[in-house]
Amino acid sequence: MPDSLGHKRSIPLPHIGLATNDPYRSLVAPIYQTTAFELPEADEAAALFALEKLTPIYARTDNPTTRVLEERMRAVEQGEACICFATGKAAIVAAICAVTGAGDNIVASRNLFSGTMAMFSATLKNLGINVRFTEQDTAEAFEALSDERTKLWYAETLSNPLLKVFPIASVARRSHSLGIPLVIDNTLGVGLCQPLAFGAAVSVVSLSKYVAGDGSTMGGALSEGNFEWASARDRFTWLFQPDPAFAGVVWADLARKHRTTPYMLRLRFVMLRDFGATLSPLSAFLLSQATETLALRIQRHAESARRVATFLDGHPRVRSVCHPTIGTADEVRRNADTIPGGACGMVSVDIHGGQVAGQRFVAGLTLFRHVATAGSSASLAIHPYSTQLRQLTEDERRRTGVPEGFVRLSIGLEDPDMLIDDLQQSLAALDGGPAPVLPE
Ligand SMILES: *Cc1c(COP(=O)(O)O)cnc(C)c1O
Repeated sequence: MPDSLGHKRSIPLPHIGLATNDPYRSLVAPIYQTTAFELPEADEAAALFALEKLTPIYARTDNPTTRVLEERMRAVEQGEACICFATGKAAIVAAICAVTGAGDNIVASRNLFSGTMAMFSATLKNLGINVRFTEQDTAEAFEALSDERTKLWYAETLSNPLLKVFPIASVARRSHSLGIPLVIDNTLGVGLCQPLAFGAAVSVVSLSKYVAGDGSTMGGALSEGNFEWASARDRFTWLFQPDPAFAGVVWADLARKHRTTPYMLRLRFVMLRDFGATLSPLSAFLLSQATETLALRIQRHAESARRVATFLDGHPRVRSVCHPTIGTADEVRRNADTIPGGACGMVSVDIHGGQVAGQRFVAGLTLFRHVATAGSSASLAIHPYSTQLRQLTEDERRRTGVPEGFVRLSIGLEDPDMLIDDLQQSLAALDGGPAPVLPE
């Protein structure tokens, strides 16, 4: 699908989304900081509300500034269409609830970001949506848990914080043959891996991490690939039968008319309209600007992280290192099948000495900020066991497989030699050097 300028997908990001009829020919797309758009005369206004034309009416569902970001993220993810939300979490909830209701189920990998795990194991369950967790990240395991009420499969390109690489291509292949869309959270793989090119139906990305890149702005993007919704008409009745949520419209019919997909329409006109998790125009603008340097930044993150992982691997204080470049030759090759450059910007490390050592290691770092996020230009460190995983039950925490001495590092854009020096001194301090001051 060409973008608004009629170019193919290879168009460089800074050129995407600029209006050709801008009277000032602004270098940068403007910010439409508005709640609504003036309506035309009576009949035409009625036609807009009936979605005969998809022109912005009210900014909860549509804003031209956000459209620019949507076109850019579609290009980053090589999708057919994209829609943005207020946060990554909002994109994930919408991806699921657009096609899943009470009594339905989804099948998910167990290797999930703790915030997603909490949503899946409690909040979705309270809505009557059952999440079935696979014991293994294989197509067979996903298929074995699926039935006619299964609406989607869910996994992360790189699990957080264990950084396991999900075999997207093989699971996607099976998902298409069963008519079940595979949804991939590509937050940690953005700019490095294109899940849709491997056959995933949908990718969700938290823009709050690498896309914002400076820790300033939250957002989420949902991109769609080439899933044949029509191959599973019976599974997705909301898309193929009159939808009571929107005056009995049949999304599949409307999608044909507007050359989009029924899923995209239901996301915008039911999920955004009803849940209201709308990205602000100012945030959309900032994130659009940030996409222009994403490809450069992510390469640097990944290259520095590769060096950090190599340094940590084999350090006497380190039990194990998690990074796609560390493992047997076979594992590393398989990781590179999914992440072509082989590396990602995060490194996780299990420190000898359990929780106390892990916490002291984080406290002893000077260039790594102690923050519960990832993907910013500043390097970050966190001890997940005593922080993020505290929102899970004891059983869930154990089942994440995250050891007590585990530390997650988000490698920033600083000089990698300085980062390695900093890691070195904090590890050395664990061996009886001056004890770092622990936070309260
Ligand atoms: C941070 C994160 C999210 C949630 O994104 P928000 O923008 O914080 O809502 C989802 N998935 C992964 C892998 C994340 O790291």
